[in-house]
Amino acid sequence: MPTRRHVLGLIPAAFLRWDATASAAGGEPGDFERIDAHTHIHRPAPALFASLEEGKWSGLDLVVCPTSGDEAIDLESRLRSTLEAARSSGGRLAWASTFDARGFEDPGFADRTIARLKQSFDDGAIGVKVWKNIGMAIRGKSGAFLLPDDPALLPIHEAIRRAGKTLIAHLAEPDGAWLPLDDRNPEFPYYSKNPRWHMFGRADAPSKAQILAARDRVLARYPDLRVVGCHLGSDEDDLGRLARRLDAYPNFAVDTAARIRYFARTDRDRARAFLDRYQDRILYATDYALGENSPEVGARGMKAMHDLDWRFFATADPLEYEGRPTRGLALTEPILRKVFRENARRWLPGVGV
Ligand SMILES: [Zn+2]
Repeated sequence: MPTRRHVLGLIPAAFLRWDATASAAGGEPGDFERIDAHTHIHRPAPALFASLEEGKWSGLDLVVCPTSGDEAIDLESRLRSTLEAARSSGGRLAWASTFDARGFEDPGFADRTIARLKQSFDDGAIGVKVWKNIGMAIRGKSGAFLLPDDPALLPIHEAIRRAGKTLIAHLAEPDGAWLPLDDRNPEFPYYSKNPRWHMFGRADAPSKAQILAARDRVLARYPDLRVVGCHLGSDEDDLGRLARRLDAYPNFAVDTAARIRYFARTDRDRARAFLDRYQDRILYATDYALGENSPEVGARGMKAMHDLDWRFFATADPLEYEGRPTRGLALTEPILRKVFRENARRWLPGVGV
């Protein structure tokens, strides 16, 4: 890992100067088409799509299969309504499919899963999402946890690669999932409400390092499989750790979904240096979820997120990010274009207008 001084030394002087273009761009509703690479909309929402068009935004709608144990899920209806959302969005919404990994020990699991994914690709899915239940919740008959590089999953990764689609991987969690639940835990609000994902003291479960090492073995095994790691690839707590992975795996990029607050609270120069160095590997994303909201309410909520995030990345304004005072990063126009558009177009072919 290069030292901070070394990283800063690589930055052209122009990058370190506040420049008027970034500030001016920040006030505008977007003078280029931007992309939010991680959303959960999942149903036709005309007012929301109209708002995206007006603000020059597109999104990627990710289907998730969050089940473990014998929980019920109607995955087919989720896939169907997400496809309807994408088809009714006037091109504003691309979508990614998923699969239920719980049957990984059943005969014919890989063939069946691949056949269903192919149908999704025929329906326009541009990628496949896998979720943290792989590594943290799904177990085989022996009680062992399913890991991302389990032999049962390899033919699926291979099929995604062969189809030229992207694997979108939310694996593991912030470090807080493996830390005591106290006020030093940066994720206290989430894990106090979601104890099932709080792994501290769970000696039977894989460590975070083991889960991410299994993901990294997939990256190494399929160097031409594009993988986008959700939530800064779960290395949000340590940009140095993330940097080492981005250096080691050229087929790996990350989205910023629900983790921009980590950039907002880290040392500002360090955040800017990181975004400069990895400007081709970071995809802007929110994790915006429509949920039960009306499309009108949803449109306002999503626009508010996009406006705040744009101010954070594009201007040097003092602002408050999730209750914490900070200052915008004032990234340059070329970096903004990559993070807010070009990287998504390259790592997730088919997203954006
Ligand atoms: Zn998400």
